[in-house]
Formats: sequence, C-alpha cells, structure tokens
Amino acid sequence: MEKWRSSYRFLRHSSANLFDRRTNRKFFNSIHSSYLGLVSNLTWNRAYHVFMRDACNHKPYFLMGRSIFGVSVNGVLIHLQRSNGTGCRIENRKFSSKASIPQRNKSFSVINSDDINYFKKIVGDRGVVQEEEKLDEANTDWMRKYKGSSKLMLQPKSTEEVSQILKYCNSRCLAVVPQGGNTGLVGGSVPVFDEVIINVGFMNNILSFDKTSGILVCEAGCILENLISFLDNQGFIMPLDLGAKGSCQIGGNIATNAGGLRLIRFGSLHGSVLGLEAVLANGTVLDMLGTLRKDNTGYDLKHLFIGCEGSLGIVTKVSILTPAKLSAVNVAFLACKDYASCLILLSEAKRKLGEILSAFEFLDINAMNLVLKHLDGLRDPLPSSAHNFYILIETTGSTESHDKEKLEAFLLHSMESELIIDGALAQDINQTLSFWAIREGVPEALMKAGAVYKYDLSLPPEKMYALVEEMRVCLGSAANVVAYGHLGDGNLHLNISAEQYTETILSKIEPFVYEWTSKHHGSISAEHGLGLMKASKIHYSKSAETVQLMCAIKKLLDPNGILNPYKVLPESVLHDGT
Ligand code: FAD
Repeated sequence: MEKWRSSYRFLRHSSANLFDRRTNRKFFNSIHSSYLGLVSNLTWNRAYHVFMRDACNHKPYFLMGRSIFGVSVNGVLIHLQRSNGTGCRIENRKFSSKASIPQRNKSFSVINSDDINYFKKIVGDRGVVQEEEKLDEANTDWMRKYKGSSKLMLQPKSTEEVSQILKYCNSRCLAVVPQGGNTGLVGGSVPVFDEVIINVGFMNNILSFDKTSGILVCEAGCILENLISFLDNQGFIMPLDLGAKGSCQIGGNIATNAGGLRLIRFGSLHGSVLGLEAVLANGTVLDMLGTLRKDNTGYDLKHLFIGCEGSLGIVTKVSILTPAKLSAVNVAFLACKDYASCLILLSEAKRKLGEILSAFEFLDINAMNLVLKHLDGLRDPLPSSAHNFYILIETTGSTESHDKEKLEAFLLHSMESELIIDGALAQDINQTLSFWAIREGVPEALMKAGAVYKYDLSLPPEKMYALVEEMRVCLGSAANVVAYGHLGDGNLHLNISAEQYTETILSKIEPFVYEWTSKHHGSISAEHGLGLMKASKIHYSKSAETVQLMCAIKKLLDPNGILNPYKVLPESVLHDGT
C-alpha cells in the first residue's frame, strides 16, 4: 500500500462552488466572452411575423422587418438578406446540435400591461421581474447557447400563487417556461420566444424531516446544496449529487430526473422520490405528496412529473427518501491502460466492493488534459506519466477500518493483475475533494476550451468507447473528442471540443451519433433530458407508438400546450398527430 501513499501528491482543494455561476461571476463571464457572436441580438418575438418553408429544400425562413433569415442545416439562424437600416444588430444564433428552430405558435398571446397588473396582484411587485439585466440572465442558459426573449419572469411564493398564475396564463393562452436553477444542458430551461418564465426559487422552505424514516419534505425551489447541508447536520445525505448543486433546485432535479454521481448506489429519483405536489396548466393542484414507501392504489402518477422537463406541470413540493450518512468515505483515483481494463475493473468493483461502492466515474486522457490545462489549482494526482483512462472510485460505509481494508485489498489485487497501472488513495478530506474536483471539473474545462458539442448517452458499457473511437476517426484533427461520465451507470458524456462551431464539424457528428446510439439500443439522453436540443430526436430512442402516447398525455394535461412549448416532444407529432 506504500505505493498508493507515495504516489499521492498534495492537491489544492478548489471551491465546492466551482460550477456555481451565482457565486462565481468571473467564471460565468468568461463563458460569456468565449461565446461571443453565438448569442443572437435578434428579437425573437418579432422574428415569427412571417414564417415560410422553402418549397425546394424545405428549409424554413423568416421575414423580420426588411430582413430575411434562413435556418441552415445545423439550426444556425443566418441573415440572408437585408435592405437597409432596420435598426437591428444581427448576429448568428448557433446551437451545438441540429436543433430545428421551431415556429412560434401563433395561438399564444403576447403579454400586455393588463397581464402584468394582474400578475402583480397575485405575486406582488417583488414577484414580477421586468429588469433587463435579470431577464437577460433568465433568458440565457448555462452554456450561453440558447437565448429567449421573455419580457417577464414571475417568482411565486406559494403553491396557491403558482396555481393562480397558471390558471390565468391558460385562460389567456400565454406560454410559460418553468425554470429552476437554470443549469440544464439541453436548452429546456429558457424560453424559445417570449414565454413567461416562472421560477419557484422563493419557494425554498424545508417543510419537515423525519429522522426515523429519513423522509424529507420540502418546497421545489430549495437549492440542492442547501438540502445537502441541512441533511448533513441531521446525519443524512441526499440520494443525488451533481456538479451543479450550488445552483440547481430540487424541483429542477425532479423535472429532469437528474442522475448524477451517486446513482450507482442510490438509484434514480423514480425510486427516491416518494411523493410530489404539482400544478397543472389549468391551475389544478395535484396533491401527490405522500411519504409512504409502499402505495399501490392505482396509477403512480408522480412518475409522469419526474423527468417531464416542465412540460406537464410545475413541481411545487417534494417528498424524498434520504439515506443515513455513513462515516467512512474513501476515494481512489486510478489509471488504466485501456478501456477493456476499465470494464473489468467495474465488474470486479461491483463484485468485491458491492455494498460499499458509491461512485464509479471515468474520464479519458483528453478529458484529463483539458482539466489540467484550463482549471487553475488542479494537479494530476498521478503525475509520473500520462495514462489513457482514469477511474474515480468512491466507497461509503459504516466502518472505516473494514471499508479501507476491503478497498485496499481490491486495489492491490487489481494492480497485481494489471487492471490498474497507477493510483492514489485519498488520505484526508482535502485529497478527497481534489480527486472529485478533477472529475467534476470536466464540464467547466470544456467550456473554457471553446466551442463544445455535448452528447449525453446511455449505452451498454462494453460498446460505449467504440463510439468515441469512431467519432475520432470521423473528425480527424478537426476537433478534440473528449469522453467522461458515469461509467458505473453506462452513461457516456461525449463532448466534442473545437475552436468554434462549424457546420462541417456538426455534419460529421449528427446524425451519426444518434444513429449509432440507436443502432446499439442506447438512449440519446441518459440524464440531461431532451429540452429544445433533442425534442425532434426522440424517435432515435422511443417508438412511434410511445411518442404518440406521450403526446396524448401532454394534450390531456395541457390542452393549450402552454407549458414549456417546443421542448421534449416533436412539434410535428404534437400538432399533426402523425
Ligand atoms: P433548470 O435548468 O432550471 O430546468 C431544467 C428543466 O426542468 C427545464 O425543462 C425546466 O423547465 C424544468 N423545471 C425546472 N424547475 C421546474 C419545476 N419546479 N417544475 C417543473 N419543471 C421544472 N445533470 C445530471 O443529471 N447529472 C449530472 O451529473 C449533472 N451534472 C451537471 C454539472 C454541471 C456543471 C452542470 C452545469 C449541469 C449538470 N447537470 C447534470 C445538468 C443540470 O444540472 C440538471 O439537469 C439539473 O437537474 C437541472 O436543475 P435546475 O434547477 O437547474 O433546472
């Protein structure tokens, strides 16, 4: 074991809030500047005045004032023609994916001063946000790739207020976007056009916590990290954890069915969430806030709202089963020479660490290099040489000596059988945090590296890396193909990093990446959802009949389609029924 200790180098702990854009303005601004030119200044709610489809090549184009805009094959809005002085500064709006630009649904009303006055009566002046700066932030997603043009954000303080808002919006046919911490990665949390943003961030009370059962009941606007801290003081933990914990809200987590870093141990939110309260489009409050572990009385409708991405209702309260906090946590950072070794290591870890295994994460050398290059204060825990693959293993149990002995025996055996070629076992909390900071730092490093095409795929682990290798062959030197993710859950984060977004690169990635995933019976969205980015790609992972039924459910619960329009389900199926 001396080898483990000696291979360890002291690493500086970086902020737990590395990814929290509220506490880290510098980082947020740096993202903004690296995306110059990608965020359109185009006023989207004026761009739908005329919408046509080119009869020959079926590409949509818009007329706005005297300007004509087309949509290129990769979803880039292009200024095609402009006569003179319309006064608008036009730039391209680019998506990292071929997100087809939808047409604004003409049945939606445009907000007016009567509406604003009505909303002020419901939520008071403080709950009605119209300041440009605040709206700009709420209109723009975490990656600064998607930008809407909403003129209004509402911040209700109670379920009753949410209900009154939705009832009114439904009667006026005003489209809305539920928004949580706005850390989503598929363009689901921001308006596409001028939808009203509803953020339940003021609803952030913990309602009850039962120390015997570990059941927490809270409002949907609670920030995940605050819940983690609250539970820590009670001797419990949240069953989910993710890099965006400093900003994301539990309501957003539920709406996206967030997976995160501990799913291998605690399973998905479909298991941990015992109940919830949701408000439907017409204002009806559905009280499903049960705290029972077993309840087979009819259909378990809460599951419709877990992962619905705000398209079926607004989640306002949550009841969640939290595990007891165990005192012994060990983290090892390991190197493997090839992907096959990573897979054998995973199956060995499941067999030999079984009940104490709480995370099995991986990153390849390209991901590691990006982190070391772009994130200050992070150092390679295994600096003697570079390695093709890195694995982070975490164990959580109740007896320090027993768990450590078990983990060390596993590591020794894995090293003797050459499954791992180097490794370091964290000796204290700072080292533990440093190892995690490397894994959790990959999304930030990618953002700093330039343009990034992000894919979040579920694949059988044995097939996963073949896609990465094929992608590298396809792209050659045009881009840096980076792979990391939750290997223990079969979840690959495939990220293609390039200096800038180009149609040439995108056309090499899509539809190849979706077709490949579909061919290997994977899912094109493991944990981030479909949002705007992949709404029209759902058929790669779901049958036509399944999508039809989803559309029927959407129409039943939200007949006017006001909840998060243009997201999750393909507009063509929703509106044509085909
Ligand atoms: P938002 O981003 O605000 O919204 C996401 C979706 O949920 C939108 O469609 C929105 O309309 C809807 N929504 C939000 N609140 C409500 C509500 N109260 N009721 C109904 N609908 C609502 N995701 C993972 O799954 N695993 C990870 O490991 C992970 N790591 C991440 C790391 C980083 C650095 C970042 C930036 C993101 C990461 N994500 C991850 C993605 C994101 O953090 C999650 O999807 C998170 O659950 C979103 O929560 P949010 O409150 O920010 O929701």
